[in-house]
Amino acid sequence: MKALSVFELICRFDLDPKKSLGQNFLVDESHLARIAAAAELSPMDTVLEIGPGLGVLTRHLAAQAGRVVAVELDDRLIPVLQELFADQPRVSFVHADILQVDPATLLADNGRQTTDDQSPVANRQSPPYKVVANLPYYITSAVLRHLLESPQPPTLAVVMVQREVAQRIVAQPGEMSLLAIGVQFYAEAKIVQKVPAGAFHPRPKVDSAVLRLDVRPQSAVAGVDPAWYFAVVRAGFGQKRKQLRNSVAAGLGLSKEATEAGLAAAGIDASRRAETLSLTEWGALAKALI
Ligand code: SAM
Repeated sequence: MKALSVFELICRFDLDPKKSLGQNFLVDESHLARIAAAAELSPMDTVLEIGPGLGVLTRHLAAQAGRVVAVELDDRLIPVLQELFADQPRVSFVHADILQVDPATLLADNGRQTTDDQSPVANRQSPPYKVVANLPYYITSAVLRHLLESPQPPTLAVVMVQREVAQRIVAQPGEMSLLAIGVQFYAEAKIVQKVPAGAFHPRPKVDSAVLRLDVRPQSAVAGVDPAWYFAVVRAGFGQKRKQLRNSVAAGLGLSKEATEAGLAAAGIDASRRAETLSLTEWGALAKALI
C-alpha cells in the first residue's frame, strides 16, 4: 500500500496537531530521506526515535535499520502508529516522556519500559544505538543534555532543531555559549541540512536545520571531572558580557585575586569574556581552580 502523506493521515485519524507538544510534522519527502541518510543506517543498527508523530520519519528509519524504538508523548498517536506499523515487528512504540526515561534502558527492554519501572539498569542488556529525530523544539536543549549525559549515550544523533539553535550549537570560540560547550564536550557537531519552514505542517515560525552529533568515545577535555568543568563554565557565563575575572569570581564565590591567579595559571587573559574561550581553555581553567 502506498504510504499516506501527513495531510491524509491527519484527515484519516481526525487529528489536530498540538502546538503545546511541538507538533510540526515534516511533509517534505526529500528532507525525510536525507535525515535518514545522514544517520548512515544499516540492518545492524538500533534506532531510538524521539517523537515519531505520524510515523513519516519512522517509515524511512524502519526501511534501513534493524530495529526502531520510538518514544511518543501524545497518547492519541500511539494507536495510530501501532495500526500503521502493525506488519513491522522490528518497530515498536513507547508511550512516554523522553525526559523521564533512560534512553538505553528503553532499548534493552525492547520498548516496554514505563516511567515507573524500577528494575536496576545493570540487569539490562543495552545495545549501541543511534538517535534520529525531528525534535519537539520546546525541549531541544533538555533532550540533548538528557541523551549526552545519560549512562549509555547514543553513538550518533541526527536531530532536526531550530536553525538558530543549530548555529549556536556548532559555534566556535568568539561565539560560544553554555549550550555549545554542553554539546561539544560530548560530541562533534555539524549542520548537515538546512530545512525551510515550508517543509512542515503546520508551518512553524522559524527555519530548521539537521544536526549530526558524532558522540565522542571520551569527552573533549580529559582529566577533569565534568561536574566541576561545567560549574566553572556556568560561572563564566553567569554574568553576561563581564570579564572572566569578575564572572568566574562571582559564580564560584572566589576572591578576585584567586580567580586572577587561576586564569594566569591557565594562560588566559583575565579581561577576556566567556564566549571567547575554547573547550580546552575551560579545561585548563577548571584544573587551575581546583
Ligand atoms: N517525527 C514526526 C515528523 O517528523 O513529522 C513528528 C515530529 S514533531 C516536531 C515532535 C513530536 O514529538 C510530536 O509527535 C510530539 O507529540 C512529540 N513529543 C513532544 N514532546 C515529547 C516528549 N517529551 N517525549 C516524547 N515525544 C514528545
